Amino acid sequence: MNQQSISPELIKATIDFHGHSCPGLAIGIRAAELAINRFGRSVDEEIVSVVETDMCAVDAIQFLLGCTFGKGNLIHLDYGKSAFTFHSRQKGKSIRIVAKPNAIGDPSDELIVLRTKKLKEELTPDEQERLKEAMAERTKRVMEADIDKLFKVKPSHSPIPRKARILESLICRECGEATMESRTRRLFGQTLCLSCFEAAEKRL
Ligand SMILES: [Zn+2]
Ligand SMILES: [Zn+2]
Repeated sequence: MNQQSISPELIKATIDFHGHSCPGLAIGIRAAELAINRFGRSVDEEIVSVVETDMCAVDAIQFLLGCTFGKGNLIHLDYGKSAFTFHSRQKGKSIRIVAKPNAIGDPSDELIVLRTKKLKEELTPDEQERLKEAMAERTKRVMEADIDKLFKVKPSHSPIPRKARILESLICRECGEATMESRTRRLFGQTLCLSCFEAAEKRL
């Protein structure tokens, strides 16, 4: 673990932000570390992250890289992959990193088996204890692993997403709520917000 880029205090603060320590968050911490090593620390909007998962890891990316939905520098693609693209606005460079399958564990391993049992509420008290231990072991392993053993790193050729623009709002004819222009639809010559448009379409 590269102690210079992410201090133990910062790791603790990340765990507090997320609410618990887990292997997924650890993957996110290591992914953020890789971004910091490549592009330097960011405090505001220097880094744009495109995340292909909405799991625990993303919280570390938000917290450590200053990427948030509100600033428009956190973009979620619902692909269900532990893959992250980091764009540096200053350096004009981008990388896409993907967690290697064995970084997270394969379906046959104990942790995954126990987690599946937990979802079905079939864990015995002993197994519950074992799950906690296995989670802690996996987290430790991810935190201490050689970073190139965890991720595949590739240059990314996708363009850097534009900065968030302030668009005009239009009033939805149906609900009367102000809606960002780019999110409105027209139906029979009326301007509708997306939710009213979808409801109206079902009635057609
Ligand atoms: Zn978590
Ligand atoms: Zn509406």
